[in-house]
Amino acid sequence: MTADRDPGCLFCRIVAGELPSTREHEDDAILAIRDIAPRAPTHILVLSKAHIPSAADLTEAHGPLLGRIFATAADLARREGIADRGYRVVTNVGAWGGQTVDHLHFHLMGGRALQWPPG
Ligand code: AMP
Ligand code: ZN
Repeated sequence: MTADRDPGCLFCRIVAGELPSTREHEDDAILAIRDIAPRAPTHILVLSKAHIPSAADLTEAHGPLLGRIFATAADLARREGIADRGYRVVTNVGAWGGQTVDHLHFHLMGGRALQWPPG
């Protein structure tokens, strides 16, 4: 994992506290914030603190980071009261995958029935 921060990256600036966000969880490796334009009643972004451009840049060495991201998403889902009915954790990769911020993040979405495939 690169510990580098990209000074022009929106999420690096949120991690650094230079831009505002609604923080739902923070530890040494990850930050969870409310999505600014929620597409579901619960829509939280779980970010790596390190600047990793996308899931395409992950390696086996990121296993512990990913485990923590998914465990945190599950914990947040329980806190939000969406765990019993189900929810989605998804990451977009590249332009055709729908990625608009090139800093690793997972969308935790729930609180309504979600369509599949997303479109
Ligand atoms: P993606 O399009 O998969 O890269 O996801 C980026 C997400 O970041 C989108 O759902 C945006 O609504 C969200 N977003 C953009 N700017 C902010 C911000 N300043 N604070 C919180 N979420 C944001
Ligand atoms: Zn970044």
